[in-house]
Amino acid sequence: MKPINIIIFGRQGSGKGTQSLLITKEFGPVHISTGDMLRAAVEKGTEFGLQAKAIMDRGELVSDEVISGIVAERLSQSDVIQNGCLLDGVPRTLGQVESIMEVSEKLDFSIDLVLNLEVPIDEVTSRMLSRGRADDTEEAIARRLGLYEQETAPLFEFFSKKGVFEIVDGLGSETEVFDRLSVVITRVLSDKKQ
Ligand code: ADP
Repeated sequence: MKPINIIIFGRQGSGKGTQSLLITKEFGPVHISTGDMLRAAVEKGTEFGLQAKAIMDRGELVSDEVISGIVAERLSQSDVIQNGCLLDGVPRTLGQVESIMEVSEKLDFSIDLVLNLEVPIDEVTSRMLSRGRADDTEEAIARRLGLYEQETAPLFEFFSKKGVFEIVDGLGSETEVFDRLSVVITRVLSDKKQ
């Protein structure tokens, strides 16, 4: 299979994590989730992990410098070069977009597709409230969604201009949503020269 490099956007509670795993299984790109990477560092209890934990607990963003460093390192590893990547949870800021574009130029690959798994705010809020996690209070949810609108949604324009941005309806069953994503990914793969 041709390697494909994808960025997936979606609000918290959009089902992005579940769909990312399905995409990885079906199309082969390596799942790169900065949230997972940061949580792994927290688990290890390193100095860096402790710093990250404090930031994550406050619902703030880890600095661009740190994120850009860990992502650049991961993107340059051979499994990613061979199989492509599915970036999940990154980029979240314009600084991170710039850094990913720089790395892709240096390593000579392109971002083939940017997916936006669209689920309206009302729907993700009720999904998150019903899963009943301790950190899912209505106030915390609103704060995280607000940050997403403020920091991340403005990045869509950058990728629209590049002609790689695709909005996919995230309402419906897991399979229905995955089928929609698959149609788009398959089309981009067949257009990809290599
Ligand atoms: P969520 O979808 O719950 O925000 P993630 O698992 O993507 O979850 O991230 C959890 C936390 O890790 C974020 O709230 C943030 O503090 C930090 N984080 C993850 N990715 C990034 C990133 N690209 N830039 C800055 N901080 C990040």
